[in-house]
Amino acid sequence: MCGVFGVVLPSGRDSEAAQIAALGLFALQHRGQESAGIAVSDGRELMLYKDLGMIATVLDERRLPSLRGNLAIAHCRYSTTGSTVWENAQPTFRLGPRRAVAIGHNGNLVNTRELLGQLRGGRTRLPASTDTELLTALLADEPAADTVDALVRVLPRVHGAYSLVVLDERRVIGVRDPFGFRPLVLGRLPAPDAVDGALEPGLWGDDDAGAGWILSSETTGLDIVGAEFVRDVEPGEIVVLEPGRAPRSVRFADAKPALCVFELIYFARPDSYMEGRNLYEVRRRMGMQLADEHPVATDLVMPVPDTGAPAAAGYAERSGIPYREGLVRNRYTGRTFIQPSQTLRHRGVTMKLNPLREVVRGQRLTVVDDSIVRGTTTKQIVALLRKAGAAEVHVRISAPPIYHPCFYGIDTQIETELIASTHSTEEIREFIGADSLGYLSIAGVLTALDLPYDRFCFACFDGNYPEPVPYDARSRKFMLEEEPGPGLALPIAPGSGGRG
Ligand code: SF4
Repeated sequence: MCGVFGVVLPSGRDSEAAQIAALGLFALQHRGQESAGIAVSDGRELMLYKDLGMIATVLDERRLPSLRGNLAIAHCRYSTTGSTVWENAQPTFRLGPRRAVAIGHNGNLVNTRELLGQLRGGRTRLPASTDTELLTALLADEPAADTVDALVRVLPRVHGAYSLVVLDERRVIGVRDPFGFRPLVLGRLPAPDAVDGALEPGLWGDDDAGAGWILSSETTGLDIVGAEFVRDVEPGEIVVLEPGRAPRSVRFADAKPALCVFELIYFARPDSYMEGRNLYEVRRRMGMQLADEHPVATDLVMPVPDTGAPAAAGYAERSGIPYREGLVRNRYTGRTFIQPSQTLRHRGVTMKLNPLREVVRGQRLTVVDDSIVRGTTTKQIVALLRKAGAAEVHVRISAPPIYHPCFYGIDTQIETELIASTHSTEEIREFIGADSLGYLSIAGVLTALDLPYDRFCFACFDGNYPEPVPYDARSRKFMLEEEPGPGLALPIAPGSGGRG
């Protein structure tokens, strides 16, 4: 996962870009909670601040004023390559012979080892253990004089998932891999009087040349800063944003769209829009499909909060069974799935959910969630509800079973971590302790989306990987921390980092 954000303001507005970037990133906090950072440029030089922790802690009001510049990129991290250490936080930064660049990356590369070999035959020393660090080094060291030309030369060699925000001294650049695995949208800051005076009047005209421009992983990042959605950055496209100029589009590869369908099922915020669809509505329709595919006679339908709520609402609507909330979520703990270790995941479940005994006691429950990955979370939830007095617990999942690992930016890299890859549905039901268990089918997902299969990646459900995954890319989250050769001593100096 990871959230990326970029902003370009007219020249001279050096006090605002970092603030807007921090605000925009704040709307993407759900995409990564391990670290956060901002890189800015005032047209002459780059400055970077990053640290481990939540966005509000890292990018607080004492630090933002010192990050001066009218160009900024920002990043929050969820690790899929490399450990959760300061060096691996993003944006990355590298001063090469031709340019200084900073990068924020959402995705995961699948040919990291091959790229490492391309860095001066593996002799380049990296300050962090992430694929983004490799990409940053390749870009900074590329001999082409211009950053966009350098990207056009480097990107065809890079395989896997990458939605990038790139910063050099003079511009912010948005990039999406040819498959568009991860989302990235372009937005335009409107005339200031349209944002309740939050920004001074007269900064932006109605023409594009005077506008401010935004890049964001999700449309929620546009909403929070008052920007209008313009369009998606297309798969295989580079979008160049410079102060005082309209956005420029450069295509570096043909588009082969395969947006991660899990973004729509679970990961992205329900108030975001993807493929022209509001994700709350998409998830509500998935719940309706689920009710059609797996009906069950119960007294109440309830969600596993918060992400199961839209599908539970749809299930209740279609089935006619009353909707009630029977689990209260502590909003101040991280999302269970994106904690980096199994130990933390275990602690996370019990820290964040508490049953409402008055609602649950004596009731037959249909409990709707959006996924079962390892099964441990669902098992604990069923146990919580039974302990609170539930008469029956029927689990319904608004996604198909996850049989295969993801190599494009989700940290489920080992098949044996996925309960569905080693257990039948009946065995999973038994493991989680439910009275019954039902998953939404791929056909049901497509009916809810009302879009064709070939627009999406469904690989973790059906094993049909859009981009081939080399054998040595499998199960290698810590690849760059193993076998440190002569050119890869880790960690080294502070000042660079991560990936997403
Ligand atoms: S494998 Fe699954 S999680 Fe990964 S990009 Fe494809 S659909 Fe998304």
